[in-house]
Amino acid sequence: MSVQNEWKLREMMCEIGRRVYAKGFAAANDGNISYRLSEDRVLCTPTRVSKGFMKPDDLCIIDMDGKQVSGKRKRSSEMLLHLTALKARPDMKSCVHCHPPHATAFAVAREPIPKCVLPEIEVFLGEVAISPYETPGGQKFADTILPYVKDTETILLANHGTLTLGTDLEDAYFKTEIIDAYCRILILAKQIGRVNYYGDDKAAELIKLKPNLGIPDPRLTRGLENCDLCGNSLFREGYGDFSPEPRVFVHPKLMNQATPSGETSTCGCSAGGAEAKASSNGHAAGPNIDSLVQSITDQVMNALNGSAK
Ligand SMILES: [Zn+2]
Repeated sequence: MSVQNEWKLREMMCEIGRRVYAKGFAAANDGNISYRLSEDRVLCTPTRVSKGFMKPDDLCIIDMDGKQVSGKRKRSSEMLLHLTALKARPDMKSCVHCHPPHATAFAVAREPIPKCVLPEIEVFLGEVAISPYETPGGQKFADTILPYVKDTETILLANHGTLTLGTDLEDAYFKTEIIDAYCRILILAKQIGRVNYYGDDKAAELIKLKPNLGIPDPRLTRGLENCDLCGNSLFREGYGDFSPEPRVFVHPKLMNQATPSGETSTCGCSAGGAEAKASSNGHAAGPNIDSLVQSITDQVMNALNGSAK
């Protein structure tokens, strides 16, 4: 890579840092950003510097083992997370890790990101995973993303923050902006009192648009395009023991699955979801009370309407 091109990338990384800080995604010196320069060189942000006020020569270069190659400042301690993600995804060049408040609120609540609410989320983010909690900084923490990062570029780190991957610096950053805006809208809609969802057929329409936009989606390659797209998460089974259940944002079809007349999955993905049972992590997996009340009210009203005919 030419000196000029590397300098442009350094300037762009500082610009992304300014956006991360200006949006309130990283308090004080929080957050870190990386970009793969070549097979064994990664440009990254230094430790103990506010991401809003970096200069191009504050940045560090490390190898794929995390060893610092150049830079007057010490590299961020979170770089093992970035390197683990970049090694697992040779198709990705950049990672952004920070603590955007609305997305981090979901990571703290361990509430899965609901699907079938906003069409742009389906297209530009696809499925979002939550990786299990681990003390930040070490390889054990970095490895928590491994089961998920193969199939998504947007991961909530439980009780911590977000990690997004992109084909360039801005692509990685945009995913952070999109997930935080989405989480903010969800929280606001919940405060108004109701979240409405569209159905599997509409989700399938959106997912089928993705190849034309050059956006891959593992659900297409696995033949899940007509499957239980709004209900069960791709990340429910086979991704480890950690599978947080939806408690606050529950698609109505998951409510229906708890009833004998509820629709069941007709394809390979597993049914289940928000039935009132204890999950493997010991938490009650039932739907939240206002959704339950709404469901019962609907059933009563249907019964009354039926008997009035
Ligand atoms: Zn962090």
